Amino acid sequence: GLPDGHRHHPDRPRQGSFKRVTSLTNPLVKDIRNLQQKKFRDEKSLFIAEGQKLVRDAMDGDWPIETLVYGDELAGDEAIGQLAARAKTAGATVMEVSALVLEKIARRDNPQTVIGIFRQHFAPASSVGEGGLWVALDRVRDPGNLGTILRTADAAGVAGVALVGHCCDPFASETVRATMGSIFHVPMAKISEEAFLSHVRRRKLHLVGTHLSAKTMDYRAARYDAPTLLLMGNEQQGLTVDLADACDELVKIPMRGRADSLNLAVSTGLMIYEALRTTLR
Ligand code: SAM
Repeated sequence: GLPDGHRHHPDRPRQGSFKRVTSLTNPLVKDIRNLQQKKFRDEKSLFIAEGQKLVRDAMDGDWPIETLVYGDELAGDEAIGQLAARAKTAGATVMEVSALVLEKIARRDNPQTVIGIFRQHFAPASSVGEGGLWVALDRVRDPGNLGTILRTADAAGVAGVALVGHCCDPFASETVRATMGSIFHVPMAKISEEAFLSHVRRRKLHLVGTHLSAKTMDYRAARYDAPTLLLMGNEQQGLTVDLADACDELVKIPMRGRADSLNLAVSTGLMIYEALRTTLR
């Protein structure tokens, strides 16, 4: 769950409201659709989760819901009625919309009849490295990779994921969908490279970086005693020189075939499971 301060937005009424929306020109429709764009997500600090499972995961995790949207073909559905009641109690606007409106709001490739608008939330940068194994991603670019990594981190019980430097937006709908709901379970922190480096030094965190250079050791030979942070590099460039220099150990997963490297999400998964091998049973 989230700390109390995040549960209710200060300007929001205690009890939410109900609206039926059938007009495509209703400004709420545009407001929601705009959240498909990063610029508007950043501006409003909101994001979209599509599908009943994701919306339920978010609400179970006490993520602050702003708006719940569902198609009017679900009017009278018991599960939707319960979800709507919960959303209203949490202060959200509940919108029952026509098929046309839904089509306008939902992603085209995989239309869903339930959509939740939630407030973005990051763990404080000062929490990086606390409470168990953390994964730090240097400038991750691909939303699918980030989503898969968050899902894997959640499954393995990783304490948190740090987004170091300029990363892709974890709240893009592609990423949210790839997490299968794990975005609501794994603490994420955003941190600049400089802040990350000084934080690691100050807290004396044990930094294990992945690197493809010849000097690296086999990943099974490294120590992963707490407090360990696994550091993974950018898809194109790998780790920056400064980040690689800051690592206590640089490791590599051996490769035998002709591929130059593994996919970032796959290698992160292997690293997580190796780091937790003795404790995850
Ligand atoms: N051209 C880049 C380089 O030379 O570093 C390739 C980067 S690789 C596609 C992206 C990231 O995936 C790496 O920085 C590392 O974190 C991880 N990775 C890929 N293959 C790996 C391997 N065999 N062992 C450990 N990490 C690996």
